[in-house]
Amino acid sequence: MATEKKYILAIESSCDDTSAAVLCNTKVLSNVVATQEIHRQYGGVVPELASRAHQQNIVPVVHQALAKANIDKKQLSAIAFTRGPGLMGSLLVGTSFAKSLALGLDIPLIEVNHMEAHILAHFIEDEDTGQPEFPFLAMTISGGHTQIVKVNSYFDMEVLGETLDDAVGEAFDKSAKIMGLPYPGGPLVDKYAREGNPAAYPFPKPKVEGLNFSFSGLKTSILYFLQREARKNPDFVEENIRDICASVQHTILEILMGKLELAVRQTGIQQVAIGGGVAANSGIRARLKDAEHTKGWKTYIPKFAYCTDNAAMIGIVGYLKFLEGKFTDQSVAAKARYAIGS
Ligand code: ADP
Ligand code: MG
Repeated sequence: MATEKKYILAIESSCDDTSAAVLCNTKVLSNVVATQEIHRQYGGVVPELASRAHQQNIVPVVHQALAKANIDKKQLSAIAFTRGPGLMGSLLVGTSFAKSLALGLDIPLIEVNHMEAHILAHFIEDEDTGQPEFPFLAMTISGGHTQIVKVNSYFDMEVLGETLDDAVGEAFDKSAKIMGLPYPGGPLVDKYAREGNPAAYPFPKPKVEGLNFSFSGLKTSILYFLQREARKNPDFVEENIRDICASVQHTILEILMGKLELAVRQTGIQQVAIGGGVAANSGIRARLKDAEHTKGWKTYIPKFAYCTDNAAMIGIVGYLKFLEGKFTDQSVAAKARYAIGS
C-alpha cells in the first residue's frame, strides 16, 4: 500500500535561529534557517534582540520554505512548532505564528519539544545516515543542552543524565573566550585542536556521580592556568593556541566519552546516537567512529544541518505525531522549561 503524502510545515524559534521547513512524510523538501548575526558582537545570545529578530524573520523564512519546497500553503496537512524549551520571547513568536496559520488554514496544530526533536532528527529520511533501532542511547550536545537519553520508542524517552551547570557548547565557547577567540568559539577550538598536542596541558576532570555532567569547573581551571602562564610569558596563549585548544578539547571529549561508556555499561545498549551543534566537532566524530571498532558500538550522527537548531527536526516529530493523531488545541502556550517526556 502506498503511503499517503502528508505535507508538514514546521517552525522553530526557540533560541537565536529562525527556521521553517516543509516535509513530505519523512523527507525534507526545504529547511530554511536564518541565523541571527546580531548576537555575535555581544559574545552570546541577547534574548530581547532574539525575539525581535524572530519577529522580523518569521514571515520571509516561512515564505522561502514553502517556495523552496514548491508547495502551496493550501496543500499543507498540519503545522508543527517548537513549544519549548527555550527563551520565552523567542518561543512566543513561533508559537503565535503557528497557531494563527493553523487557524487560518483550518488544519491541525502539533506542538513539539525541541529536545525530543534533536533526538528524533535521526529519523529524517537521508541516504547517507542510517537510522537507529529502539532502544538506543542519545546524547544531545549543544550550546544550550547536554543530555543522555534512553530512547525506548518515538515518544517514550527517559533522561538518564544531564548537565548540572554549563552545557558542553558553552564550555567550548567560554574556554574560547578566555583565549580571546571570537564567539561562538567552538568551531575554532576544533580547528586549532586538530594541529595541537592533546596531552600538552592536563586539565582536571570534574567528579560528578552517575550520568550527570558539570563543565563550569573546567572554564575556571583554564582561566587560572592561562593567568598563571601569562605572568611568565604574556604571549603564552598566542604561541601555544593549538596545544591549549587540543588539551581543552581532549578534556571535554574525555568527559563526554566517559559518560557515554558508563551509560552503555549501565543499560547494556550499544547503539549510540548524537545530535546538537557540538556533534559537528571533528574530535567527537572520530572518537565515536573509533568506538565502533574498539567497543562494538553502532553510532549515528545526523547531517550537520539537522544537528544545529533547525525546523526539519521539528517537522519529523510533527509527521510522527500526525500519524498518531497527537494534535494540540489552540489554547496551547509556549513553555520555556519543558522536560523530555513531560
Ligand atoms: P544551541 O542552539 O543550543 O545554542 P546549537 O545546536 O546551535 O546550540 O550549537 C551551537 C553550539 O555548538 C555552540 O556552542 C558552538 O560553539 C558549538 N559548536 C559548533 N561547531 C562546533 C565544533 N566543531 N566543535 C565544538 N563545538 C562546536
Ligand atoms: Mg543555535
